[in-house]
Amino acid sequence: MRLCSRRAFSGGSEIVGEIWAFSENVELLHELLSGAEELSKKLGASSAAVLVGDGVREVAEELGRYGADKVYVVDDPAFSAFSPEAYAEAIAQLAKQFEPSAILVGATKRGKELAPRLAARLDAGCATDCVRLEIDEGGRLVVTRWALGGNIAAEEVFLKKPWVATIPLRVFEKRVFEEKKCEVVESKVSVEKPKAVVVESKKKEAGAPLELARVIVSAGAGVKNREDLKMLEELAQLLDGQVGCSRPLSADYGWFPEWIGLSGKKVKPDAYIACGISGQIQHIAGMRDSKVVIAINSDPNAPIFKVCDYGVVGDLYQVVPALIELLKKRKK
Ligand SMILES: Cc1cc2nc3c(=O)[nH]c(=O)nc-3n(C[C@H](O)[C@H](O)[C@H](O)COP(=O)(O)OP(=O)(O)OC[C@H]3O[C@@H](n4cnc5c(N)ncnc54)[C@H](O)[C@@H]3O)c2cc1C
Repeated sequence: MRLCSRRAFSGGSEIVGEIWAFSENVELLHELLSGAEELSKKLGASSAAVLVGDGVREVAEELGRYGADKVYVVDDPAFSAFSPEAYAEAIAQLAKQFEPSAILVGATKRGKELAPRLAARLDAGCATDCVRLEIDEGGRLVVTRWALGGNIAAEEVFLKKPWVATIPLRVFEKRVFEEKKCEVVESKVSVEKPKAVVVESKKKEAGAPLELARVIVSAGAGVKNREDLKMLEELAQLLDGQVGCSRPLSADYGWFPEWIGLSGKKVKPDAYIACGISGQIQHIAGMRDSKVVIAINSDPNAPIFKVCDYGVVGDLYQVVPALIELLKKRKK
């Protein structure tokens, strides 16, 4: 099913401005720059990164390697702590001055706080969690997002610039442009002190982000006890991967800090091994772009078998130890 919702904002400019990329997540910024480079080529424009923070100037030059023609830098101690209001205001001031066509924002927690505030300041549209971005014949940005609980892919067309869109990890492939150099534009902005202040910050105890894992062994409610997760961890370790889970194991049992799915993390690994996951649409919405999906489920009618590449109808308590044994033998 194709749903097309058109956002009508009048007064668009015909000038093709740059395609900007912003994210505090370096990996995601590199991916967005690859996307910005791709889109800007289609438009006959150029790509640019935006850096806001304290001490960010020193990393500006290296962004050319990832596709930036230009890097706008706001390096000021006032931006040492992230504030969605202050950062949005800073980027909005730059955008009013340099008039980009698009601002691609990393769909991290911070990016999702920032993007709508930025769009509101620019009287622009904002599309969140875009999984595909294209330019139509009219030179407008068309984005695809999952909608209605992950059941449909909705296409949305921007009718007015600038286009503000948030994009999760793994939508674009990071590319390296060995010889590319970028122009650095140092800018000053004037931003009011944010109303909300950071009183204390604590480092989150967490491993590498799940979105970056090349292999994910994912636990579902078919896993009966918390101790049984050790077996999935062992399998993940043998495959150089990480363990993820469906929502009940996190939201209901509290075994994991986060889950995969529509209301959780969106992942796109090379291999996704679903262990005891039924495959409800809300879960599928978070992992459907995985390159290869392997499902282990004792119920032959489980919906996960409709979306997997390889399916094992069986008891995960037998299949997972057998896989571990096999992989251990191979590693010897
Ligand atoms: C608004 C909303 C948002 C949601 N967002 C998310 C989301 O982001 N992510 C998410 O995951 N869910 C989400 N859900 C919940 C979702 O609808 C499902 O309830 C959830 O995904 C089910 O998780 P599960 O597959 O692990 O559990 P179940 O549906 O209970 O499935 C367990 C599976 O394990 C199998 N099984 C049992 N024992 C074994 C065994 N020994 N060996 C092998 N297989 C076995 C069973 O056959 C069954 O298929 C959301 C729901 C709503 C309403």
